[in-house]
Amino acid sequence: MEQTFIILKPSTITRGLAGDVLTRFERKGFIITGLKMMQLSEEILREHYAHLVDRPFFPDLVHSMMRTPVIVAVVKGVDAVAVVRAMTGATNCRKAAPGTIRGDFGMSGQENIIHASDSPENAEIEIKRFFKPDEIFDYKPLTFAALYAPDEL
Ligand code: UDP
Ligand code: MG
Repeated sequence: MEQTFIILKPSTITRGLAGDVLTRFERKGFIITGLKMMQLSEEILREHYAHLVDRPFFPDLVHSMMRTPVIVAVVKGVDAVAVVRAMTGATNCRKAAPGTIRGDFGMSGQENIIHASDSPENAEIEIKRFFKPDEIFDYKPLTFAALYAPDEL
């Protein structure tokens, strides 16, 4: 079963929305397989946002992502990467559809509540970047029997 990587960004911690955002993933049927608070460094952000280092907003993005500690999480479910991206919504919260996390909780293109991996390949890379192997708990809870048909697992 697939796992994906999430960051609850500093704006989410500051606004006291971490619980609300995590609750959405739990209610949807994901299980949390990794969860911790950490202070991001410029070094890890340069790796994580390597596709954006040349963009004019990159210094602001780094500053924003280091303003407070973040909560990083790994969640597990069938098609986890695509389902979490769909729940996340468009990058700019003002354009994100109501019902998505960004559409419901934010007003900004930069202070946009969460990061979520955009492909299974990147999810694997990002999980390894932010978590040690023994910080991921790959268990199978009893709820799966009520969440999925046998041929979906
Ligand atoms: N970002 C920004 N301005 C932009 C585009 C992106 O500040 O014009 C920030 C925003 O916080 C976004 C992050 O850079 O979440 C990563 O950008 P990406 O294009 O990967 O968007 P995402 O995958 O987060 O939707
Ligand atoms: Mg992205």
